Amino acid sequence: MGILDIVPAGVITGDDVRKVFQYAQDNGFAIPAVNCTSTSTINAVLEAARDIQSPIIIQFSQGGSAFFAGKGLPNKKQEASILGAVAAAKYVREVAPAYGIPVIVHSDHCAKKLLPWFDGMLAADEAYFEQHGHPLFSSHMLDLSEDPKEENIATCVSYLKKLAPIGVWLEMEIGITGGEEDGVNNESVDNASLYTQPEDIYDVYKALSEVSPNFSIAAAFGNVHGVYKPGNVKLHPELLGKHQELIAAKIKSESNKPVFFVFHGGSGSESDEIKEAVGYGVIKMNVDTDTQWAYWVGIKDFYESKRGYLQSQVGNPEGEDKPNKKYYDPRVWIREGEKTMLKRTQEACQHLGNVNTL
Ligand SMILES: [Zn+2]
Repeated sequence: MGILDIVPAGVITGDDVRKVFQYAQDNGFAIPAVNCTSTSTINAVLEAARDIQSPIIIQFSQGGSAFFAGKGLPNKKQEASILGAVAAAKYVREVAPAYGIPVIVHSDHCAKKLLPWFDGMLAADEAYFEQHGHPLFSSHMLDLSEDPKEENIATCVSYLKKLAPIGVWLEMEIGITGGEEDGVNNESVDNASLYTQPEDIYDVYKALSEVSPNFSIAAAFGNVHGVYKPGNVKLHPELLGKHQELIAAKIKSESNKPVFFVFHGGSGSESDEIKEAVGYGVIKMNVDTDTQWAYWVGIKDFYESKRGYLQSQVGNPEGEDKPNKKYYDPRVWIREGEKTMLKRTQEACQHLGNVNTL
């Protein structure tokens, strides 16, 4: 039995999202969530997943969403980020069925100061639900890990109460992931807070599971956003196993992995560390930095190999009057970026065991 036996192709929502995560956890794999900022990057990720017959998660950051709508738009009140995220989610909804794979559409890190962005997307979900009986997005992420634990949990509970009835999954973060993302800089936090404590995970689990089972937790186990020199922090995926044990015992769970964990800041991680984390119940891993680099490498290599054809509209090494349109047409060089991003996305799927899982 594969994933397409339990959920349909296209964007999935509600309990279907939990079914896919449960299937992944039971079968020992996780699904990469690739940050996208354009139709080109979305298409590359969908094509990558289709070609290895696997589900995929497409996610939009607050900055990526604004970029999707256009850098020329004002964004003081998050209006471009809301518009861009909504437009991008609608685009994915429209094309995903043609790729024949289940797709989860997710919004990435939302810190307290960005809550108006979250509220705008939630309003779009509610309006979509009114019309179609399911939400626009599959899932949203709230990141209040910088705020006191009680406030973090209370805010997540109040949002889950709005998300659960319309079938939207909630991902939350507790503990500090190092590095920098979307303007939140954690490069100088002390080492101990880079590891979430098990009691904190239990408090989150207890509070959220009273509202809905449709949530996941991004816990810190030494992970860092972005790519940094190795050796600064040490990854401890075994901590996730300890969290699972503690919670299973406290709630007398039949499952030895009651929690759906999310792996943030996995760029540059060793594949055995990734495998270990997946073994402890990680069902989603964020991928951004590495696929950004991959997209650029495709374009860079194309430019370097076709340099002589890309200096003017007419005239290249084959002759002064030879036209260069088939080299500078954006469809040609952007496609090169798509191809390398596609390969890197498939590599992420391989690391996570998400190959031929449909
Ligand atoms: Zn994070």
